[in-house]
Amino acid sequence: MAVTIMGKTSSLVKKLARDYPDINFQASNDTYWSSKEQSIYMDDQCDTYILLHELAHASLQHADHSSDAALLRMEQEAWQHAIEELAPRYGLTIPEDVVDDHLESYREWLHARSKCPHCSQTGVQTDQKKYRCIACSNEWHTNTAKRTELRRYATKKHL
Ligand SMILES: [Zn+2]
Ligand SMILES: [Zn+2]
Repeated sequence: MAVTIMGKTSSLVKKLARDYPDINFQASNDTYWSSKEQSIYMDDQCDTYILLHELAHASLQHADHSSDAALLRMEQEAWQHAIEELAPRYGLTIPEDVVDDHLESYREWLHARSKCPHCSQTGVQTDQKKYRCIACSNEWHTNTAKRTELRRYATKKHL
């Protein structure tokens, strides 16, 4: 894949790869932590703060099979760990608005995937990747891969 991690992030990746030999750091078209593969995937726009956030998920061994409420809690925990433990170790300070923006777009993403594709009512989560609409009884699965797209869409909308 033709993704190159550039600038500040690239030099941080080198340090992290040395300090965390058990974790794979891989260029990709999305940025996320995979507990199954013990890998942090990074897209070309991934900045140092997001990278530390994903590293926090890795350090806390977060896994992606939980309810939406638990996912949101893990997001907050990961930021807290990144701010208090990881950033100081690498001489970085994570700005509050980066955290706020990220949590906000995460909430929007959770909200978007809980919306009934049939009638747009907010559904109830029946298991980790399934929702059911109370209004029309439609059932649907979440698509976790859509997260980056939605994040970019949400950003564009505010311009
Ligand atoms: Zn996260
Ligand atoms: Zn519906």
